Amino acid sequence: AKPDPDALLDGLNPQQRDAVLHAGSPLLVVAGAGSGKTRVLAHRIAYLLAARGVHPGQIMAITFTNKAAAEMKERVVSLVGSRANAMWVSTFHSMCVRVLRREAKHLGLSSNFSIYDADDSRRLVTLVSRELDLDPKRYPARALAAHISNLKNELLDPEDAAARAGNDLERRVAEVYASYQRRLTLANALDFDDLIMRTVGLLQAFPQVAGHYRRRFRHVLVDEYQDTNHAQYVLVRELVGTEPGEGDSTVPPAELCVVGDADQSIYAFRGATIRNIVEFERDFPNARTILLEQNYRSTQTILSAANAVIARNPNRRDKRLWTEAGDGDRIVGYVADNEHDEAAFVAAEIDRLVDSSEARAADIAVFYRTNNQSRVFEEVFIRLGLPYRVVGGVRFYERREVRDALAYLRVLDNPEDTVSLRRILNVPKRGIGDRAEACVAAHAERERISFAAALREGAAGKVALLNPRSQKAIAAFVDLFDELRELVTSGQDVAEVLEAVLDRTGYRAELDASDDPQDGTRLDNLNELVNVAREFTEDVAAAPPAEDGLPEPGSLATFLERVALVADSDSVPDSEDGVVTLMTLHTAKGLEFPVVFCTGWEDGVFPHLRALGEPAELAEERRLAYVGITRARQRLYLSRAMVRSAWGQPMTNPASRFLDELPADLIDWRRVEPERSAPTAATRWGRRAEVGGGDSAQAGVAAGGMRSTPFKGWQETPALNLEVGDRVNHDKYGLGTVVATEGSGPRATATIDFGSAGTIRLMLIGGVPMQKL
Ligand code: ATP
Ligand code: MG
Repeated sequence: AKPDPDALLDGLNPQQRDAVLHAGSPLLVVAGAGSGKTRVLAHRIAYLLAARGVHPGQIMAITFTNKAAAEMKERVVSLVGSRANAMWVSTFHSMCVRVLRREAKHLGLSSNFSIYDADDSRRLVTLVSRELDLDPKRYPARALAAHISNLKNELLDPEDAAARAGNDLERRVAEVYASYQRRLTLANALDFDDLIMRTVGLLQAFPQVAGHYRRRFRHVLVDEYQDTNHAQYVLVRELVGTEPGEGDSTVPPAELCVVGDADQSIYAFRGATIRNIVEFERDFPNARTILLEQNYRSTQTILSAANAVIARNPNRRDKRLWTEAGDGDRIVGYVADNEHDEAAFVAAEIDRLVDSSEARAADIAVFYRTNNQSRVFEEVFIRLGLPYRVVGGVRFYERREVRDALAYLRVLDNPEDTVSLRRILNVPKRGIGDRAEACVAAHAERERISFAAALREGAAGKVALLNPRSQKAIAAFVDLFDELRELVTSGQDVAEVLEAVLDRTGYRAELDASDDPQDGTRLDNLNELVNVAREFTEDVAAAPPAEDGLPEPGSLATFLERVALVADSDSVPDSEDGVVTLMTLHTAKGLEFPVVFCTGWEDGVFPHLRALGEPAELAEERRLAYVGITRARQRLYLSRAMVRSAWGQPMTNPASRFLDELPADLIDWRRVEPERSAPTAATRWGRRAEVGGGDSAQAGVAAGGMRSTPFKGWQETPALNLEVGDRVNHDKYGLGTVVATEGSGPRATATIDFGSAGTIRLMLIGGVPMQKL
């Protein structure tokens, strides 16, 4: 049955209605948090389908996360029925993957290209810098990778970068960039930024391809437009097309509708620029702008607080959010002695709210500025048995064993994927040492062939300096690979292939034989990955066959693509899950919770230390505060700790300057009582946290792009196992070398030489923002 178009307009205010009904020229909806921008997008799409005769296949909608995409689709389906499933609703990255797979031949790639995430990119940069003989202390891979990423976000290729380089660092970056791009192509791989940049390049270089997509997608809609970067902006422009006569397009431009809020732009570090929203009217002549000011999410108290903070930012268009919801409760402020006290307060308050049925655990979120701040909350929540889930942080897909297993699958799907291939070449150990690997790499470089091809030549005895033992080991590896590859080509399920990988490579056996408790956890995680694969297969069983040129729904390629495109916020639990959600402020964007604890309001923490003397960064932090506050629907808690440990040292932090910006009458300050004892009622939850059903907590992206971290209890979150000489990468200090280790278990520490950042002694218990390389 066709839904009544007028019903789609019910429950919208006049401005929202305007935005849904507007036809023709480009449309910008700018509005503060919680004013229904996302809702307008969903209703607009439904209205296009129901009232304007638009076919679902003509609609492309872009959201910030996969989860938001799935929700958008669901909402539209619930409004107009299942035919809406034919729409393209996805993130920029997923959308580009779809286009690129189909058009890969134009770019000299095959359609099963691998997608490199930040970790893979860093590995490749490391390989390249080693070849170029760069001093890793002066040019850390992380920094080089970040430079390359920035260039790509500006759509600058290696030649552009070389032409613009004005100093030694920039020249080095350009050099690394050029070599890195060549290696990516050889590996039949694209990194995250390439997905956007290469799609733009494709549409610009091949008018007939651009024409195809312009004819197909007559409506392009973008949520969270304030967080698009330059490359994404150009991509939107290319997709929509220009007026006939301009450029060489013969297709009239598609209808464009973007929604956003300049005050919520918080991804400048990824190249996002408010310019895109501020200059929309200049970018798209005859654009129409609609403002929304009524907020439907929060109480007036919460909005007044948000308005007061954001009003301090310079150069913004002032807008006043208002609501009919009434004042509601005052904000609760809490000054804790230290971060443990802060966590205890949050836990006690959550307990009280749940106990008195004022809120369910799932209604509650705890926000903090940086991932490492979750650790103390986790410790306290576990001790009290409060069920919770951390979004992001030490991520399932970043664990070594999970990445190893995925590397096998990636090589099986795309044998040219050098980074993955070299990762697993000698994992588990099979007698292909560093020297042998170097011989093969040198051979590949000399012959200008891929590493995989060089490996085959090695097996055949055609690689110089390879000793017979290594040659034999390589030959055995090539055979093993062919045997596994046979499973893929014969159409086995992903889970079967994964099981075969774990068995036939001896990976599982090695962990099984170990009595290191960490290896037990690793087995659990691999088991979890098999579950993810199983659920994936079930999930796609009913999916229609792929469109031309795209991988089949149940294929290894599709599985790997889903895994690669999972973002932090895709793992936000559903409200039925019955757990408290912990996440960073960045991850909270677009979400809403009845109760929000916003923690760590200290200068140096939030605003971040880095931002203190930097007006532009401070403005960005203030927007982050605005985002955090406006996630709350009914209750908001703001807390700070007087003393907080940073890198093992207690630091006394002054109150966040943002706290001073809040009108005093909105906050009810609860000071620290001298002997506040630990909360008592918490054992109701049972001693151990059962997160999302304990062991069955699935780590899957399988269902609608959902992922959750399989939480196995703090005691099993292993300390990083380091030895003298190990190389590490620390989120804050960069690359380092372990020079000494001391103690064991929870007291284990390592002294690490971080080059210019100094030599620092760190605790190694889980949650350290550092990876072993
Ligand atoms: P953000 O800036 O945080 O992304 P937003 O502008 O996208 O927020 P939505 O998430 O679309 O806002 O809406 C906020 C809340 O208000 C949602 O719960 C939504 O269902 C509700 N809402 C929006 N418009 C209306 C309306 N006209 N009537 C009732 N509820 C509404
Ligand atoms: Mg929104």
